[in-house]
Amino acid sequence: MYKVFKFGGASIKDVESIKNLGEILLSYDAEKLVVVFSAMGKVTNMLEKVVESYVTKSNDSIEKLQDVKDFHDNILSQLFDEKHAIYDEVNNLFVEIEWILEDDPNQEYAYDYDQIVSIGEFLSTKIMSAYLHQIGFANKWLDARDLIRTDNAYRNAKVDWKTTVSFVNNQIKEKHSVTQGFIGCTSENFTSTLGREGSDFSAAILAFALNADEVVIWKDVPGMMNADPKYYSDATLLDKISFDEAIELAYFGAKVIHPKTIQPLKQKGIPLYIKSFVRSRESGSKISEGIATSPKIPSYIVKENQILISISDTSLSFIVETHMSKIFSLLSKHSVRVNMMQNSAVSFSICVDNDAHKVPRLLEDLKNDFEVFFNDSLRLYTIRHYTSESVQSLVKNKDVILEQKSRNTLQIVAK
Ligand code: ASP
Ligand code: MG
Repeated sequence: MYKVFKFGGASIKDVESIKNLGEILLSYDAEKLVVVFSAMGKVTNMLEKVVESYVTKSNDSIEKLQDVKDFHDNILSQLFDEKHAIYDEVNNLFVEIEWILEDDPNQEYAYDYDQIVSIGEFLSTKIMSAYLHQIGFANKWLDARDLIRTDNAYRNAKVDWKTTVSFVNNQIKEKHSVTQGFIGCTSENFTSTLGREGSDFSAAILAFALNADEVVIWKDVPGMMNADPKYYSDATLLDKISFDEAIELAYFGAKVIHPKTIQPLKQKGIPLYIKSFVRSRESGSKISEGIATSPKIPSYIVKENQILISISDTSLSFIVETHMSKIFSLLSKHSVRVNMMQNSAVSFSICVDNDAHKVPRLLEDLKNDFEVFFNDSLRLYTIRHYTSESVQSLVKNKDVILEQKSRNTLQIVAK
């Protein structure tokens, strides 16, 4: 039975991390493994800049691409002998981007985005596969486009599970394979992507298809914590988490795992481990069916850059069902997800991520039918399993604008 390992950008951000990761994989040499990689370091962000420059015809796309080349060249020269075949393979991938950049941008931004940004994962897996061979970890490089079939909703592609299950089982035969996270392929053979941070989801898709033993997501944190260590210095490791709790935490914005990751694993009862690639011998967090979350402590989630939008009828009459249906259809039209909502007699408030592309368009549409006020630069705090002490310490020195409580979850919008 296979185990599926996923390594994100931070685990392969430089030569030292890559060597550390090599050691980890060698220690699992006896196991049947599918290893999924994201792009190295911040390469996806760098490639997004190339796309931005290309679609806005800013003339500096070649320069932006050079940054990506320099980053990889620096790593290559430290890992491989000058005559290694990897140099040509990497070069060919850059030529693919250069060909795209020579032509005019496509009509569809998301299509261009996927064709260019996906190269980050092809680069990282080519390099990692070659490096792992070199240190004695035999492996087969697989193209994720031969594994994961999607629709053509570029940048947020939906998985065709049936085709994917049969592709995966036909392709994955080797003891060790290496493949790209984040990437799929449409029925017309174009590259698609599953959405930012989608590599976790890729690992879950492959595990689902293979009926894997377990999935391990290797991170730069000790596991799933009860808070982001960036905001809370006393963040504590959660050693055990039920699938349902993990889904809730990811839904409210815990960044450790991509929200789509849990569902396929839960369906097949495949446990998910989150472990530290720095302290790889520690057990980390185990997420599985039928276990109580422990330790039983409040979990804190912070979402930054929120905007609170208050919507009321221009005649100040009650907000009725027909208004709601109009508001939700606009949210859906602009694919804006509601993080929190609250209704009063004459207004309806929603708190959403202040996306610079989507929100201004949404506001414009809302203003056609409603009176709209907003308050931005806010933070949304969520406490799961709140206690009176945890709430008190959270609201202390904060200008609370909105608060909402259910049995297990408390949410606060504050400045
Ligand atoms: N490289 C992609 C990203 O940064 C996918 C991932 O890391 O999961 O969004
Ligand atoms: Mg990443």
